[in-house]
Amino acid sequence: MQDDIDRVLFDEAEILRGIDRVAAEVVAAYEGKEFTVVSVLKGSCVFASDLIRRLPIPLELAFVAASSYGDRTEGGDVKVNFFPAEKEIAGRSLLLVDDILDTGRTLHCLKNELLSRGAASVGTCVFLDKPSRRSVEFEADFRCFEVENLFVVGYGLDFAGRYRNLPYVGALRSEVYERELQAAERSGS
Ligand code: 5GP
Ligand code: MG
Repeated sequence: MQDDIDRVLFDEAEILRGIDRVAAEVVAAYEGKEFTVVSVLKGSCVFASDLIRRLPIPLELAFVAASSYGDRTEGGDVKVNFFPAEKEIAGRSLLLVDDILDTGRTLHCLKNELLSRGAASVGTCVFLDKPSRRSVEFEADFRCFEVENLFVVGYGLDFAGRYRNLPYVGALRSEVYERELQAAERSGS
């Protein structure tokens, strides 16, 4: 797995420093308020679990699952696989947490959906932000790190389902996704 990584962008220590900084901002914004952290599965599960353990204030946790179609490195249409229960949304202040803000379609879609289902407010917090890739106008309220236009994996982020368990964020070697794309073409998918 390590051999598939071209270079490490953020190691474990740097990640935790970034999360500490964002956690302080989230605490300042939500202290004294009732709120729910809504982790976007699957990619944000690692970030969300490190983040909530650095928020020493009352909060609830919920999950939403969204995916862009396909295993490729280009985002497609957003599909919401499941929402939190109605009572976890209606009238609640939500903080949507995702792994990476890329084109912006996922968070834009989820924020609107949650507001239309009756959320009192929807804030957004992302681990990584790739502003150069935005296709809809959308900015996160909180973010740990900005990244250049590279396909990154690790710390929850996958390629074709793998690499989520790497403890750091790295850029995938281009041969790896070329190999994967060729395999997909051969199998006709
Ligand atoms: P958006 O809807 O903002 O284009 O994309 C959000 C989703 O696309 C992320 O939650 C993530 O699943 C995927 N994504 C975007 N850029 C990357 C990347 O560099 N690496 C990985 N592994 N996933 C990405
Ligand atoms: Mg995702």
